[in-house]
Amino acid sequence: MSASILRSQISKVAKLPANAISLQDLVLMGQHRTEESLYKANKWIVGELPIRLAHRIEELDNLPNGLNEMHSINKVKQWYMQSFDDLTTIQSTESTDPRLKEKSSYNRQVTESLKQIKKRHDPTVATVAQGVIEWKHSTKRDIIDHSIQSFLDRFYMSRIGIRMLIGQNIAINDEPARDNWVGVICTRTNVKDFARDAIDNARFICEEYYGIFEAPEVELYCPDDLTFTYIPGHLMHMLFEVLKNSLRATVDTQLKRNRESANPIEDISDIKFPPVKLIVADGSEDITIKISDEGGGIKRSVVPLVWTYLYTTMEETPDLDPTYNKTDFRAPMAGFGYGLALSRLYARYFGGDLKLISMEGYGTDVYLHLNRLSTYETLQ
Ligand code: ADP
Ligand code: MG
Repeated sequence: MSASILRSQISKVAKLPANAISLQDLVLMGQHRTEESLYKANKWIVGELPIRLAHRIEELDNLPNGLNEMHSINKVKQWYMQSFDDLTTIQSTESTDPRLKEKSSYNRQVTESLKQIKKRHDPTVATVAQGVIEWKHSTKRDIIDHSIQSFLDRFYMSRIGIRMLIGQNIAINDEPARDNWVGVICTRTNVKDFARDAIDNARFICEEYYGIFEAPEVELYCPDDLTFTYIPGHLMHMLFEVLKNSLRATVDTQLKRNRESANPIEDISDIKFPPVKLIVADGSEDITIKISDEGGGIKRSVVPLVWTYLYTTMEETPDLDPTYNKTDFRAPMAGFGYGLALSRLYARYFGGDLKLISMEGYGTDVYLHLNRLSTYETLQ
């Protein structure tokens, strides 16, 4: 398609509103799979994604204060335009392209396209972050202002939704059915099991990063049988980020106290760390997860900053290279300054929230509220 036709199509589609969807809707759409039900789900996503992509393209075009001119932002916009083109081409050639006429081959073609699109957009978070860094350098700004922060919130929130829909469609089309799972959604997400996995992963990263034999303990208090309908991938992401922060604060604080004590312990593996506590409450509206640490807390004046993208107290930012090879990629301990901001978006995505309360000089409590209602409708 020529560039100008594509642009005019994008502005036409951008006028349409996105359609709200809930976990419950997705479960219904992906349950009892047949060629016909998959065809319906695929038709829906091929219609829906271009709307959401078009909104983001227009927003990228109109970013304030010259952010829209940054090289990395334009790169991301090109990916969005390419994906828009891929999907609208499927729409417009469905009746003429022999590969799209039969329902079974339509399903196959759409799934293949979605896989390509998903891969294309893998580096989006890092590349947009890179764009913001380019902008900070070119405008000599230290702190992201309100308009950039709210753009990033909207942009990444929308990405969570788009990725979720794509991941869900690929899974229901491609992966064998499993009990209690519909695509990437688990209708019996066991909070304790996933919390344990997140704890193991975060402690492992902590041990590697500090070169210590044992990361601080994480005490887990959670009913064994607490389950709800959720996307375990999202739950893991949030728990992992919050736990890494608590472990880092705990270790850094103890190392500092040790350095400053009259008789510092030489081998840091012998230093005792106060445990982090992860407490899960089973409410009728929310499942709330509190992660408490004795990592010294955060100054009250600094607390608002921790929600800002790219804010970190880590001295070195890990490599932001968006071309990283996914299989080699190990999650960094910290330093990207995205952990809390993105986790809050994941929480809010299905009607939950993430809050942080600090007692400077003692420690931090983070509350992760997850809405139990799988009928919560999200528009993103
Ligand atoms: P990153 O971990 O990459 O720095 P985050 O968004 O996860 O980014 O956190 C931002 C900053 O908030 C951290 O660099 C740290 O200074 C502060 N912070 C977050 N959690 C805690 C905590 N539990 N205790 C003390 N400081 C914290
Ligand atoms: Mg972090």
